[in-house]
Amino acid sequence: MPWTERQAAMLAEMGVKLWPTAVGDGVAVAEEAPSLVEERMATPIAPRQDIARPVDVAPPPQAPVSSRPPGANAEASPRPAPITRGDRPAGIDTMDWPALRDAVAGCTACKLCETRRQTVFGVGNPQAHWMIVGEAPGEQEDMQGEPFVGKSGQLLDNMLRALGLSRKETPPPAGEGSAADPARQVFIANTLKCRPPGNRNPLPDELAQCEHFLIRQIALVTPKIILAMGRFAVQSLLRSNEPIGRLRGRVHRYQGVPLIVTYHPAYLLRNLEDKARAWDDLCLAAQTADTVAAASAAG
Ligand code: URA
Repeated sequence: MPWTERQAAMLAEMGVKLWPTAVGDGVAVAEEAPSLVEERMATPIAPRQDIARPVDVAPPPQAPVSSRPPGANAEASPRPAPITRGDRPAGIDTMDWPALRDAVAGCTACKLCETRRQTVFGVGNPQAHWMIVGEAPGEQEDMQGEPFVGKSGQLLDNMLRALGLSRKETPPPAGEGSAADPARQVFIANTLKCRPPGNRNPLPDELAQCEHFLIRQIALVTPKIILAMGRFAVQSLLRSNEPIGRLRGRVHRYQGVPLIVTYHPAYLLRNLEDKARAWDDLCLAAQTADTVAAASAAG
């Protein structure tokens, strides 16, 4: 489809490849590989009914029990010990950061614990001014233990870079700014901390169990701005089933924190015409963050 020069410049910033097209005066956008996550986003989600369930009291974490006879060679038995399902850890809403990280790592509250390779807690500076909320780990994230490391993560990083933001906690190289500044850093988390098998949609009970972790992460990070990417993030944080297209373009609030709704990067990889809208959303988020910073500087 044709693009204006202004849109082309913005999209190039976001890492979208462009080439001249025979149609009109604009440029066409290169097709990119489809994503499983985007495909699952096309499926309507069942309404969530069990979100307000009370927190159960958890037993102490159970050590995996080995069925191997004493003295047997560990290499002869590569299959990990089965995980026993348990209750959600108690006291999440008062945990500090290390306790929360441990609680996520040991969580067995839904059946995703049986198929995950590892949990994916989140990445970035826990004091970052920006918090990005995505959906759930995919295969790469499940393998590496970090959110958004696959194709959609590359797009997310490009989008963030275009705004001068980074998930890295370390200072940028000499000549690319001064010390790591929380105002220029993001913390990235997902609504689910474990990968749904085959990248299927998160189920309502999985979201209900896992959202306590996300709620506590947000409370501890105390971001100045939240970017909710995709409908599962929006459902968790705004309790809304409205389509993204209807919610984007304005400033919402989560516990008083400004929240901007935008498309999930995996969706953008398939729906290139919405990338310019996503850029507008990021600009709205940046503008809102600036307004918040100016207000707090003014006292
Ligand atoms: N999509 C997400 O929403 N989160 C990830 O971590 C990876 C892909």
